[in-house]
Amino acid sequence: MTVFEQYEQLERTVRQYNPGADLDQIRAAFDFAEQAHQGQKRKSGEPYIIHPLAVAQIIAEELHLDSESIIGALLHDCIEDTRATHEQIAKLFSPTVANLVEGVSKLTRIQYATKEDEQMENLRKMLIAMSKDIRVILIKIADRLHNMRTMEYQSAPKQKQKSLETMEIYAPIAHRLGMQRIKWELEDLSLKYLDPVAYNEIVSTLAEKQSEYDAFMKKTQEQLGARLEELGIHHKVYGRIKHPYSIYRKMYNQNKQINEIFDLFAFRVIVDTTTDCYNVLGVVHDIYKPILGRFKDYIGTPKPNGYQSLHTTVISEAGIPFEVQIRTQEMHEIAEYGVAAHWKYKQGGQGAGTEGRYEWVRRLLENQEGADAEDYIHSLKVDMFADEVFVFTPNGDVQNLPAGATPIDFAYAIHSAVGNHMVGAKVNGRIVTFDHVLKNGDIVEIQTSKSAKGPSRDWMQIAKSSEARSKIRQWFKKEKREENIVRGRASFEAEMKHCGIPMKDVTAPENLPGLLKRVSFGSLDEMYAAIGYGGFTAQKAVNRMRDELMRIQKQHQAEKQATETVAPGVTRPAVPKRSRSEQGIIVEGLDNCLVKFSKCCTPVPGDDIVGFITRGYGVSVHRADCPNASPERRRPDQADRWIKVSWGADTKDSYSTSLEIICKDRNNLVLDISAALSATQTRVSSLNVRTTEDKFAVINLEIDVKDSQQLQSLMRKINQISGVLQVNRPAG
Ligand code: MN
Repeated sequence: MTVFEQYEQLERTVRQYNPGADLDQIRAAFDFAEQAHQGQKRKSGEPYIIHPLAVAQIIAEELHLDSESIIGALLHDCIEDTRATHEQIAKLFSPTVANLVEGVSKLTRIQYATKEDEQMENLRKMLIAMSKDIRVILIKIADRLHNMRTMEYQSAPKQKQKSLETMEIYAPIAHRLGMQRIKWELEDLSLKYLDPVAYNEIVSTLAEKQSEYDAFMKKTQEQLGARLEELGIHHKVYGRIKHPYSIYRKMYNQNKQINEIFDLFAFRVIVDTTTDCYNVLGVVHDIYKPILGRFKDYIGTPKPNGYQSLHTTVISEAGIPFEVQIRTQEMHEIAEYGVAAHWKYKQGGQGAGTEGRYEWVRRLLENQEGADAEDYIHSLKVDMFADEVFVFTPNGDVQNLPAGATPIDFAYAIHSAVGNHMVGAKVNGRIVTFDHVLKNGDIVEIQTSKSAKGPSRDWMQIAKSSEARSKIRQWFKKEKREENIVRGRASFEAEMKHCGIPMKDVTAPENLPGLLKRVSFGSLDEMYAAIGYGGFTAQKAVNRMRDELMRIQKQHQAEKQATETVAPGVTRPAVPKRSRSEQGIIVEGLDNCLVKFSKCCTPVPGDDIVGFITRGYGVSVHRADCPNASPERRRPDQADRWIKVSWGADTKDSYSTSLEIICKDRNNLVLDISAALSATQTRVSSLNVRTTEDKFAVINLEIDVKDSQQLQSLMRKINQISGVLQVNRPAG
């Protein structure tokens, strides 16, 4: 076939499924690409234009995509490999097409190296995050499919490398997008280069037994077809032998030879209605003996990628097991071509305003662990996705950081020592400032020096991740201890002088232990260090010590009076120790008042808080984000009863708080949650589960935690449990 005949075939294919396609523009794109790639050759010796044409053919024939996608596919290597530019393509075609081409080029530029599973997962996520328009990833997959089909012309190392990449990145993405046919082909082509011996064995065995298999499939097809005919069910029955990679995996997983794998056949019955699906199932189970536990109803409970079908495995009279999948035509198209089947191409091919439709795709992409797709969609994680940025280390590891992250976050994510010794940063080879915002796919390199001075205090403001901030704080706490002590001591002594308290009162041996206990430090140096790095203030220290000094003096006086007035031999009850009412809370302008934590939002140390002076019950402390404390809700006549409160340095070891967990109910869910609780050594005072009719569960937990940091990390842990959709802190 000549190049132009191939182009004509593409036009015919497009016309068949999209009569309104913009054929003029498609022709213009072909001419433009042919011109741009003029003189370039593929490894096979063919003119380069063959490749974009073939990619466009896949996009048209298999995925039935819109005109912009076809044009994008024809131009997909133009920015990367020719002198064509984004501006040029935007002007000649459309900005959307230019963005598609640019998007594909960006994915092409990413360098992969095989890594452990978690790394691969991050890579796949990054690819999706970078794609923005789902058509970018579809063109990229078609590009990869054609390259895999023509891999024989590449060198052996290149074949292996590309095949591995395909197996680890592109086949799983195709699977998640619901494109089974393409996923299989990618897997089989990869296997051919990754394990040629096994691949050839499987393929040749299948070829050897072809006639035997064909006879079995023909017989079964006829048997099934005849019964359905009798019942008047309109149907089509297809039989196939499982594809080589799926046989390979079975051999590998079950450690078996190919002739020991029986489950080689799959039949598919396509009918008109969902009701017919269940009727067919009845017929299948009537003719053949079903294998227990192998029936799956993906019509009632579709897979996260939208897949619907009934699956059952049965045994023929001859004892040969085989799988039967039953579905409607519509379900079939979605199963084969996934996202693309959902694609409603616009007549005329202008695909504006289609963003909203990709939303469900993003959601399903977020639903990880394709292996067991039973668990339902984590709708919450869509937001999380937008909150993340994926960047590379120089050796190709992917770091997953919060959106807006800077080189400081990156450095501390690698190791605190890297952050503490950082003297400079490069992004994609260029020196950047420390507040440079990282983008998906950036390669970040941190320059370190042994003689680095360490982090500066303004890094705390620049860093986006709490991990980096807490590591910086740690550094100031540890590394600068001497300096902190000197600084802390100076400000403490200045404050003492200001309040007119002589230092010797503090250092007096009969006072010092009580005073230190009052501020919760083991020694004066520890307190000075804390003041020095900013974890505690000199004012607080002096205020508390002054109170304590007064209390000690009063107590001495009382004791003195007691010994004077009470007859010898009679012991008076000790002066009751005043209980510490503030419970780690500092109330501005009020010392030692009664403090209680509001039940509606159960604040813990680290939360932003506000106080409300109740009538008779002291100060009630709310989280600043509690609806009950929101400024709109405050009654004007009570305005002066809302006061500032803050956490002191002497917070207790545990605070009671509550969590609400919303999940898709499943077996062992509560078990897994309690495992997470016990793994984090969280004390639970109550756990209450409520299930709803639509199979959701709401779990209310009362737990004791030290601070919000511990709480956040627990919430993250729970959030990772399969089935958990949302973890909330109730308020209001
Ligand atoms: Mn290409």
